[in-house]
Amino acid sequence: MSCEFYLPVRIIAGRDGVLQQAALFAETGKHAFIVTGNHSARENGALADVLQVLKANGQAYTLFDRVMSNPTVACVYEGAKEARECGADFVIAIGGGSPMDAAKSIAWLACQDIPQAEIFTTVPEGTILPFLCIPTTAGTGSEVTQYSVLLNDAQKSKSSVASPFLFAKAALLDGKYMRTLPQKSTVHTGLDALSHLVESILSKRATEISKAIAFRGLASFAPYLKRLNSTELTLKDRDILLEASCLGGAAIAQTSTTAVHLMGYPLTYFHQIDHGRANGLLLGAYLTLAEEKAPQAVRDVLDVLGFSAVSKLAEVIAGLLGEKDSISAAEAKEFAAASIKAPKCQSGIISLTEAEIEAIYRASLNIQ
Ligand code: NAP
Ligand code: FE
Repeated sequence: MSCEFYLPVRIIAGRDGVLQQAALFAETGKHAFIVTGNHSARENGALADVLQVLKANGQAYTLFDRVMSNPTVACVYEGAKEARECGADFVIAIGGGSPMDAAKSIAWLACQDIPQAEIFTTVPEGTILPFLCIPTTAGTGSEVTQYSVLLNDAQKSKSSVASPFLFAKAALLDGKYMRTLPQKSTVHTGLDALSHLVESILSKRATEISKAIAFRGLASFAPYLKRLNSTELTLKDRDILLEASCLGGAAIAQTSTTAVHLMGYPLTYFHQIDHGRANGLLLGAYLTLAEEKAPQAVRDVLDVLGFSAVSKLAEVIAGLLGEKDSISAAEAKEFAAASIKAPKCQSGIISLTEAEIEAIYRASLNIQ
């Protein structure tokens, strides 16, 4: 076996982990810059837990609660400026992928002067503020990845800042923060996790280690797929979904995502479709094609998920997502033309033509 595995994040999973890890917070710095979205960190209790620990430790903090879904470059520069001005020496991200991704770039840009126009062409290295991640959705796995995904207006899509320097110092996983997660968000973020696991397994860069992690995540996730929209998910269920999402993050930290994510980005950029929903919409048609081109690899995925054919899996996903979103025929063509130019397009084990990509868009969305 020849492969490399790198994941320097301390993962602490368990109930009340934040409250129990006062020493971790104390050793990380003196002044915390807390990065959150607009409201959920207050509602789900994560912010209160963090503040309790910081106050008990006598640590200073500044709250930056202005991260929007699908964070912008302007947002992370604004956060970095505030982090510098207040003299923060570490960052705490609380939220879904958006605050966690924003926090990574903030931790970087607070230490280094990078022109805005160069953010996506620079690979972060050197001094970056240490940061802790507290995920409150079970989907992105961002707490264990080295990617900071931001809107890229120049490309009219989303792009990642990626570097081994963007791994968190620690990730604190506690399903209790997801009790407030609405049904729709549970479905969308869950399908993001599924997409990470599947794309990682079907990636050219998959290794024995990344596959072991992704298949384990898939097995944890499998019993939940049909009831992601249940209103009766218990705390234990939330913990397991969070674990599956974290394993998906650990897997894509090795392989990156592939065509499904790439194709989902313009759906989010132009139609504000939630990230996980965009992946969920595309996954069925992508796997249908993958089943023709790489039947055994897809068979392995279906076996763990408990489906006899991609069509059955696609039916379940479609049922969770409800009515398909719409794009125009011209957009299906344009998005396919843009996707085929990106290296990520061919990073899966199946190669795709522009016509096939357009066909996936057409099969996945209502074409107006
Ligand atoms: P999100 O954009 O972080 O959050 C979506 C919504 O859910 C927000 O309104 C948020 O409210 C709310 N929310 C979060 N936690 C909640 C809770 N516990 N209870 C109630 N509401 C809650 O969504 P996400 O799907 O987790 O993250 C998507 C982003 O992650 C995208 O930008 C995507 O590109 C990125 N991503 C990154 C990676 C990576 O490896 N870095 C991988 C996949 C996806 P607030 O705004 O008030 O917090
Ligand atoms: Fe994702």
